[in-house]
Amino acid sequence: MKIKAKKSLGQNFLLDKNIIKKIVEVVDITADSAVLEIGAGTGNLTEYILKKNPKKIFVIEKDEKLVSKLKDRFNKKVDIINDDILKVSENLIYPDKLIVYGNLPYNISTQILSKWITNDNQNIWYKNYILMFQKEVAERILAVTNSKNYGRLSILSNWKLEVKKVIDVNASCFYPKPKIESTVLKFTPKKCFPILKNPKNLEIITRVFFNQRRKKIKKPLNQLFKTPDKIIEKLKLDTNWRPQNLSPQVYYQLAKEYENLSN
Ligand code: SAH
Repeated sequence: MKIKAKKSLGQNFLLDKNIIKKIVEVVDITADSAVLEIGAGTGNLTEYILKKNPKKIFVIEKDEKLVSKLKDRFNKKVDIINDDILKVSENLIYPDKLIVYGNLPYNISTQILSKWITNDNQNIWYKNYILMFQKEVAERILAVTNSKNYGRLSILSNWKLEVKKVIDVNASCFYPKPKIESTVLKFTPKKCFPILKNPKNLEIITRVFFNQRRKKIKKPLNQLFKTPDKIIEKLKLDTNWRPQNLSPQVYYQLAKEYENLSN
């Protein structure tokens, strides 16, 4: 099947069968599983998911042309939703928790993840996310405190999710071959995590801190809090620290303090 890939939709189809197999088998798909695939493309991953015989498979694909090809290929075995993932209410797709796969368009992968994280005060609608990222983005998600790549993405991702690296994927595993290397990550909901009234507050806090990542933390603290000295004392902060020296836990506490004040 010859398909002209659309660059604007980040179409890089995964062709390497071994990699496809590894990605799909990151979690056990059983006869009870419900699966959601995002950006199914030509259906290479979908086909492998289907082989595992889950109870239900949904795919979301924005490209109308590909949707009609997917319909031909899978007929009634897959529920095909022709929509933009950024506009879909994922929690309304199916009552069971979904195993989510996505070889995502690189240009919107972080946007999707941020959307899921900041909307995540509803009922949890997913069992896992298994997602492909540009390698550098995956490194930022996995980065730990005090490291060069540590920042907003690591703090936001680690709030409710446990993140594990699955595999690096070479550019030559795709057609057309992208200019970048890729990494697949697996996300699992944590059982214990700091409760926030609104996760968007964590976005606000981390934005203010990391917009000035080389500055000492006094400045963002002054910007966010009317009485920064009280916060410094309560959270035992050192004003010589810079944003990358604060652990994710401290940012979650700061988000809580910020929420308490804005009421
Ligand atoms: N999963 C397939 C295709 C990966 S390419 C494979 O591995 O071969 C990424 C796919 O996401 C493309 O098919 C593209 O059309 C689709 N896509 C791009 N933006 C999208 C969006 N906003 N919502 C849903 N699908 C999108």
